[in-house]
Formats: sequence, structure tokens, C-alpha cells
Amino acid sequence: MVPRMMQLKHTTDRQAPQDPDGQAMLAQARAEGFRRPPARKWPGPVVDVHTHASLDRGAAGLLEAAGLYGVHKLFVIGSLDSLLPLRDRYPGQVEITPVFSFPEGEGPEEWVRRNRQIIAAARAAGALMVKLWAAPRFYARTRLWAHSPLLEPLWQELESSGLALQIHVADPDLWFSRVYTDPRLYGRKEEHLAQLEAILQRHPGLRVLAAHMGGHPEDLDALSRLLDLYPQLYLDTGATRWIVRELGRQRERSRQFLIRYAGRILFGTDQVALADPEPARYEVRYWIHQMFWETALECDLPIDDTDAPGGRPRLYGLDLPATTLRQLYLEAACRFFGRRFDAERTIQAERAGQKDSA
Ligand SMILES: [Zn+2]
Repeated sequence: MVPRMMQLKHTTDRQAPQDPDGQAMLAQARAEGFRRPPARKWPGPVVDVHTHASLDRGAAGLLEAAGLYGVHKLFVIGSLDSLLPLRDRYPGQVEITPVFSFPEGEGPEEWVRRNRQIIAAARAAGALMVKLWAAPRFYARTRLWAHSPLLEPLWQELESSGLALQIHVADPDLWFSRVYTDPRLYGRKEEHLAQLEAILQRHPGLRVLAAHMGGHPEDLDALSRLLDLYPQLYLDTGATRWIVRELGRQRERSRQFLIRYAGRILFGTDQVALADPEPARYEVRYWIHQMFWETALECDLPIDDTDAPGGRPRLYGLDLPATTLRQLYLEAACRFFGRRFDAERTIQAERAGQKDSA
């Protein structure tokens, strides 16, 4: 357990007074519509490597909330067609992550041809990464495993072209026991996790960003083994409920894990822009992430989570050190992508200044 005394030790006068329960701080944030984030424990630029948005699906609201919370760059996942106009509208703020596509009505050979074209187009458009959503529902529909020989040319092509692979494997343990109850249809969680390791084994030169803590935040020992074995593997923290629930449940262990593997874990939220979002939808999620990573706050989770123990979702902040936060928010992404995103922020600020004075 994190000692109570350490709570909000970076408190500034902008924040609520120290509150062991966290409920008062939550109540204040609620009253402000989550629009007045507490001061950041590490004040540098933040990169969110896992979001979903398009211009016709409320990207403006998401980008505004990101700006409020000091998130200066978002990697947005979507079809290349929808991402290009979004990046044009928000130059410097949006990096594009095109998704692989497996339309119904096409066969495996067409899928491979289509996805080779996607890699070529992604590369031509300046993308740094392509995303494969290999969740259980993908397997149920396509009967394809990510490491099937059929898809090998795709991973070879990514590896040789220097693009990274963002991959979603598996889903929460709880969903395998509750939703994916037919393993013949959905596969077992071990089989889903095995996809990731098979790709890592065969492609030491392919940088892999395994979404949602590798699909396995429930088992940090298993993740340690993978990170130790495969230096090209990085994890993202995408998902609010799943990550906050499972890492918060093993709070001290999670804290040690994040510190130990700082530089290999990239901040991501899996925020999804919606055409008609409820009030404060994006702000509340950025607030939760900030409180979770940066403080020792304990409070009710201000969004619902039907998977929460006892039906009552709680937030147990990890209170990571500032040096770890710097890695999580910025440096790990710079290292993974081989780019200086903080330098880009300076350029962006200069550009914005030029625009203002024009
Ligand atoms: Zn996602």
C-alpha cells in the first residue's frame, strides 16, 4: 500500500486540500466538469498513442480535452481515408495509425493483397505504425490468428519497411469467463496471447506495441517475461476501465512494474471520439488517467464499469515518480518511434505563434 502521507505530495494551491478518501477531490472535479485538471506531477508534453477518431465523429471534442490535459500529440487509429483529412485539420497534433482491414465477403488472399496495399499507402502517407485488431471477435469472424502463415508477408513487410505494429490481442480475463464462453468460436485466452509471442519470436526486427498492456494487465509476471525476452516489445496503457481496474487491484506490484519497465510502456487512453458524446466524456477519462498514474488518490471511478468487483468501480492511484511519468508520457514514445516529440512541440508552438500573428 502507498502510505497515506504520500498522497498528493505534489499538491499545489490549484488543487483540493489533501483528502484521504479522494471523494472531495472527485466532487470538486465533477463540479468543474473535469475541465480544470490539477497541475501535472511531470509538466512536460504528453503523447497519447492510442485513440480513435475521425472528423465526422467528434474529433474536435477529443482534441480539445487532450489540449486541456497537456496531451499535445495523439496517435489516432482508423482507416487511412478517414485519418488523412483529420491530420490535415490538426497538423502536428495528430499522428495517423491506419488499421488493417478484413472486409466480409472477401477471402484470405484478397485480405492479404488489400493489407499489403495498406502498408504501402501508410508508409507513403508518413504513418509510423499500423494497427491490427486481433481481438476474440476478430478471430470468431475471420478464423484467422495473427501469426498464421497467411499473414506472414505483412509482418515481413512491416519489418523491412521500418513501420511499427500496434496489435490488440486478447481481452480482459473476465470477458473470457463471461462473454467468450465458447472456446471453439472465440479461442482461449492463452491462444490469443500466443499470437503475440509467435510474432515476436519470428520478427526480432519488428517494433511491436502491444495494446492494453499486451492484453494481459491481470498477469504482470507474464508481461515481465515477455519484456525481458523480447527487446522490440513495448506496451501501451490503452483502456481506462480495464487498466485502472486491474493495475489498481495490485497497486504496489503495478507501481514497481511501471518503474522497472519505464521506457517500454507508452501512455495511451483508448479514447474513442463519438458523434454525440455525453458531457465531459473525454475530460473525465483524461482526469482518471492523470489521477491514476500521478497520485495516490483513492475514490470512486467517475465512469461506470460493469466488470468492477462488487459492481463498485474504484480508482487506486499508483503515484508514480516524476522520472517514471516522463518515460510513460513522452520518452518511451520517442524511443519507440525514433522521434523527438518534445522538439516537435516547440515547432508547433512556433507555428501557432506565426498563425496568430499572420
Ligand atoms: Zn483501441
